[in-house]
This record gives sequence, C-alpha cells and structure tokens, in this order.
Amino acid sequence: MTFDDFGFDPDLLDGLDTMGYKTPTPIQEQAIPLILKDRDIVACAQTGTGKTAAYVLPLLDKILSLEHGAINTLILAPTRELAQQIDQQIEGLAYYANVSSIPVYGGGDGSVWEQQKRAIQKGVDIVIATPGRLISHLANGLLKLDQVKHLVLDEADRMLDMGFWDDIVKIVSYLPQYRQTLLFSATMPPKIRQLANQILNNPAEVTIAISKPAEGILQQAYMVYDENKTALLQRILKDGNYNSILIFASSKENVKKLERELRQAGMPVKAFHSDLEQAEREELLRQFKSKQVPALVGTDVLSRGIDVEGIDLVVNYDVPPDPEDYIHRIGRTARAATTGTAITFVNPKDSYKFNKIESLTGKIVPKLEMPAGLPPGPAYEPDSFKSGKKKKWNKFRKK
Ligand code: AMP
Repeated sequence: MTFDDFGFDPDLLDGLDTMGYKTPTPIQEQAIPLILKDRDIVACAQTGTGKTAAYVLPLLDKILSLEHGAINTLILAPTRELAQQIDQQIEGLAYYANVSSIPVYGGGDGSVWEQQKRAIQKGVDIVIATPGRLISHLANGLLKLDQVKHLVLDEADRMLDMGFWDDIVKIVSYLPQYRQTLLFSATMPPKIRQLANQILNNPAEVTIAISKPAEGILQQAYMVYDENKTALLQRILKDGNYNSILIFASSKENVKKLERELRQAGMPVKAFHSDLEQAEREELLRQFKSKQVPALVGTDVLSRGIDVEGIDLVVNYDVPPDPEDYIHRIGRTARAATTGTAITFVNPKDSYKFNKIESLTGKIVPKLEMPAGLPPGPAYEPDSFKSGKKKKWNKFRKK
C-alpha cells in the first residue's frame, strides 16, 4: 500500500514527500480510510507507531475542502511537548496546503499568549491544546468552538491519568453535537471505554499489534554525556564477560571513529559499514559468526537480517532514530530463546526519544549509575523537549 491509494490532495502528497514518509504504517493503513469515511474511531496505538499522521493526514485532506475562518479541528493532548510535536507534524505535512494550526498550552510568558491570541483571532483551522489551558481560554470567551467538525483526543489514557476527565467533558460541551471524534490511546482501561461511550458515536475500533523485544533480553541504559561514551563502552567491554558483541552507532563516520578509538585501546573490534565491498562485508560476518572477530561496530545496516547465534551483548552507542529500529537492534541478541544484554547510551538530547521507545515497548529500562571512576551522567528527563525544532509561528506570517 502507498499513500497514493488514499486519494489524498496533491498538496498533501507533496508534504509527505518532504517529510520523507514513503509507505503508511499499520495504524495509518487501518485508520486513514475510516477517518476519510467520517467514522468515529477508537484506536489503540502507542507513540512511535505513526499514530499522529494517522489522524493528521485524513483530517488535513478533509479540511482542505472546508471554508476557512473558524476553528474546524480541535486536538487535545496531555502535555505541552506532545502538543508541540503534533503541531510540528501538521506544519510539515501541511507545508504545501492551505491549512493553519496553532498549539495552545500553559506556561511561557505573556508574549506567548499574545501570539496565540493573535493567531486565533486571525482564524486558524486547527487548535492543538492541553485541556487545562483550553478551559481558561473558553472561559474568557476568546475561543469559539461552535464550528468544530473534528475532535481528536491524543494519548487519552494519559490525559485521564493526569486528571483531565472533567475538563475534557466540559470542553466537549462547547462543541457541536454533530462532529467526528477520534480517540487515540496507548492502553484501553475501562475509563477510556467509558469516555468513548460518552463522547463518541458508534466508533470503529482500530488496534495494531506492535513488536515487542524478546523476553530473554536484559535491557539497561546509561545516562551519559557524549564525551564519556567511549570510556564507558571500554569499561563495559573490559569488565563484562561478553564473547560476541554488536555495537550500533548512528552514522558511518561515528562507526569508523569508534573502531579507531577502540582498537587504539587494544580492543579487537571491526567496523561494518556501507563503504566496504560486498565481499568484505560477507567475510567480516563470517569471521563474526565463527567468533574470530568478537565485536562488530556498525550502523543500522547491521541490525536488519544479521542472524548470528550467541550474540550476548548489543550496545546502542546512540539511541536509535525510531522504536522499531531499537527493537531490531536489540533483537540481534537473545535469539532463539537464549539470553542476552542490550545496553543503550542516552545523552540528554536523546532522553525524550528513549522515553518514546520505552512507551512503545511498554517497559521502563533501568538506568544504571556510571561505573566508579567515570564522570557522573546527566539526569534522565524524558519530558524535556529538546528536538531543537521548536515552532516559530511562521505559518501565520506565511499566510
Ligand atoms: P508518532 O507515533 O505519531 O509519534 O510517530 C512516530 C514517528 O514516526 C514520528 O517521528 C513521525 O514523523 C514518523 N512517521 C509517521 N508516519 C510515518 C511514515 N509513514 N513513514 C515514516 N515515518 C513516519
């Protein structure tokens, strides 16, 4: 299946192209046709599955044929970070489309509120809001939701955990009764069912099976600054009793650098990357399989398809770009019901990404203390938003 199969507006297909999405994820395959057919849906989907685009894309397509000038779509999210991320995806996907959005959340100084207010008064299509902040805007009469055609509850379970039930019900009372409502939740406790019964109309259910790491993998992580990663790795390799080791780094350059540094420290590591000839790669894998080479360092090229028995340690020198990559990488160890260890190095910038992996796999990975003699690592701050791509409010200037 491709994105062309949904019959999206060409402007959206251009946006998809720019974002680099090539094929729909399973949740997108299932949810998009239902949303395009105006169905309410309850979707059980974790972060990392592509759930945001699963509702953003069909909604953008529908908004394109609506009149602009009033808020037509309201997205509720539990946190400011999630609201910002949703807004970024909308901004990317709608880059070529005449659709505007604004995140509305608490915190920040008065100037942020002034910007939000100006945008709302200009007439914005989509508002992405945290419930508490939205309630205060509704109370002062600035925000009018009587033209809303689509309501999305994202991470609904988390919103209820944070005590937003009453706020959500109150917000819904401001919306027209005839609307499309989409509820996304990572888990489906009875409270979510109750909420769905109360505010959705005959919803279709969408659930996707997600990959889970094998049971036999002992997952661990270190919070560590970049400059201390190599020293930490050396210590783990020296102190641990590992026989067959895979180390993943984010780029070919890092792989080569790491190979150099580890070899200088006397460790018999070999690099595996796309600059090697096919025959060289095959030879390396043969040596690794026969345990002549105890450790390989490589990029994600290594994580797919390499089926070697007896790998007892996988190290993620960098947090992998998406949760599925994490599962593929660590799945190289503990194959065929054996056991193995997977250790991930998490720098402050990657805490957020790592937290997404934890929520997809449904497992909090223990964060170990740095070994004695090495500098302490940073604190784990999963909710800090450090992607560096904060919204610049530029789309309102664009229009
Ligand atoms: P989400 O589950 O919505 O948090 O999305 C997880 C990540 O996957 C985000 O970084 C998206 O930009 C990305 N993503 C969503 N859909 C696709 C797709 N079809 N192809 C590639 N990446 C995607």
